[in-house]
Amino acid sequence: MRYSDAIWRPSSCFSPGKGRKPSFVVLHITDGSPSVQNAAERFAASKAGVSPHFLIGQAGEIYQFVQLEDSAWHAKGWNSNSIGIEHVARSPGELKQWASLSERTRRSLVPKDAPIDGATDPGFPLTETQLAASARLVAWLCFTFDWAVDRRAIRPHCENPQTTHSDCGRDWPWDSYLAAVSDRLLELRNVRGGESSSDRRSGSAATCEEDGDAGQ
Ligand SMILES: [Zn+2]
Repeated sequence: MRYSDAIWRPSSCFSPGKGRKPSFVVLHITDGSPSVQNAAERFAASKAGVSPHFLIGQAGEIYQFVQLEDSAWHAKGWNSNSIGIEHVARSPGELKQWASLSERTRRSLVPKDAPIDGATDPGFPLTETQLAASARLVAWLCFTFDWAVDRRAIRPHCENPQTTHSDCGRDWPWDSYLAAVSDRLLELRNVRGGESSSDRRSGSAATCEEDGDAGQ
């Protein structure tokens, strides 16, 4: 299954689903450069050995690499029952070698016009547009898999007991994010509820809505 608002870039790094039903989503940040194209190239490369289901850029662009039915390789121990979403952002101080990098390299590692002269890696945060796109996607996943909007269904990678990665519990705006997911889910339910009742009224078969999939 695919998300209709995502650009499809198939990865070969996945395990076939065999009828799996994911029960939660894992949120990641890329901790690399601000370029969503670079991150997409990396995840789509056959040699990558790593793959999220989705990647969301700073401007809210969404890429999908693995079908929802299949397990992406994004969080060891959690892959078989989760959906992985990467977000292009970097925690301050992530790049320890910052001070020794050339000006040109430092410039490529921050958004346009951001200052690069400090002694330590300034990183760059998630954007409002990106968080809104992420909340819309996660609401669609909650709708599709019938998950509650809570921290059991929506988890940061850093809560995985098998990881040493610290993404992305530190800087995640949990309260506003979960509220946005709830709002988008309510909208989805209203739209879909309206569609099926009008389909019933007109007597047409609502076959394409049967599995709640907006992303064919
Ligand atoms: Zn991660």
